[in-house]
Amino acid sequence: MPRPGKPAIWHPFTQHGLNEPIPEIARAEGASLYTTDGTRIIDAISSWWVTTHGHCHPRIAAAIADQATRLDQLILAGWTHRPALDLAEGLVDLFGLPHVFFSDSGSTAVEVALKMALGFWRNTGHGHRNRVIVMQHSYHGDTIGAMSVGERGVYNAAYAPLLFDVDTVPFPHAGAEGVTYAALEALCARADAACFIVEPLVLGAGGMLMYPPAVLAEMAAICARHGVLFIADEVMTGWGRTGTLLACEQAGVTPDILCLAKGITGGAMPLAVTLANAAVYDAHYAPDRSRTFYHSSSYTANPIACAAAVANLAVWREEPVRERIATLRARQADGAAMLATVPGIANVRQCGTILALDYVVDGAGYLSDLQPRLLAFFRERGVLIRPLGNTAYLMPPYGIGADDLARCHAALADAVALIAG
Ligand SMILES: *Cc1c(COP(=O)(O)O)cnc(C)c1O
Repeated sequence: MPRPGKPAIWHPFTQHGLNEPIPEIARAEGASLYTTDGTRIIDAISSWWVTTHGHCHPRIAAAIADQATRLDQLILAGWTHRPALDLAEGLVDLFGLPHVFFSDSGSTAVEVALKMALGFWRNTGHGHRNRVIVMQHSYHGDTIGAMSVGERGVYNAAYAPLLFDVDTVPFPHAGAEGVTYAALEALCARADAACFIVEPLVLGAGGMLMYPPAVLAEMAAICARHGVLFIADEVMTGWGRTGTLLACEQAGVTPDILCLAKGITGGAMPLAVTLANAAVYDAHYAPDRSRTFYHSSSYTANPIACAAAVANLAVWREEPVRERIATLRARQADGAAMLATVPGIANVRQCGTILALDYVVDGAGYLSDLQPRLLAFFRERGVLIRPLGNTAYLMPPYGIGADDLARCHAALADAVALIAG
């Protein structure tokens, strides 16, 4: 029974008490969303960093439709299927890590990575190595383990009693990278250090904080010197967002464990993978059940989701995706140059296809009223932009047109009226 005046859907990251409108979208194409009354909205954040090429890519949609009539679901414990085999082979070829473990969201890919890391140490006779090192301001998902390795704050304060302890290195601010290196070095040198998990080049939910490839390379080198497993969470940065297929590529880094989700299907189906190097896999390999990696979920490697991801790999191989990314990157650079001249806007920054900026405002936290006012402003302008506190960013699908992107840049500039007023 519905409750009068209360929605049946409890929306994520939404305070229903604010009574903000919740528009209904009927269809999507490219970078456009269409409401039920036909209004077009520009999807400037790829529907939460997921849609890479554009909505409803015909090739990916066709692969989903085709697979749905052949094999819709299969238990992956002890059984296998062609879409999973093709996808795993494709991922291994692309990323240089030989083993692929499937799951269904970025959060679970992170949970799997942490379990692999601790399993590695326990199975190799070093069970005391069980501390996880993380970076300040990180976000790795909303399940308990993923929250534990992410920044603590208003989002997870209520669950603090459930979160496990981690060791944190400071964010590598420009000019103070040495502080991060020294902290990482000291923590890696401890006898109980198991792994370091980090978002390469861009800390997304933490505020689109960026650091250069050389810093990533140095952090990976510190971990390697101490035998600490290096886990790259490329759930957001993967699939071209930072300009290269993986952000790690720019630093010449191959992680020991790699988490991918979001863009793996081009954004059409929920799917995630955790890739592991030979040592991590071999630590779980035994002639008996003793070292088995005990993790699964019902939809592990769902065939329809895998077929979408196989089609995504084909799109990357056969369509000019890298050229689209280069074009978008250049247009974002033009937009960044314009936005940097706007009073009230600071810290305009770009990494590949991602553009971010901060509105200059005193003491604006996530819970202040700025965020809802910005949301309403962008909604009225017909652009889907969802600020993080006083930080706004664009992370559009790669096929977004020049005019649409210019409208997004203009909306970001015009929103300074809200902080003045
Ligand atoms: C979004 C995100 C996650 C969580 O992915 P979900 O699919 O939302 O569970 C993990 N890590 C990073 C870096 C992310 O941006």
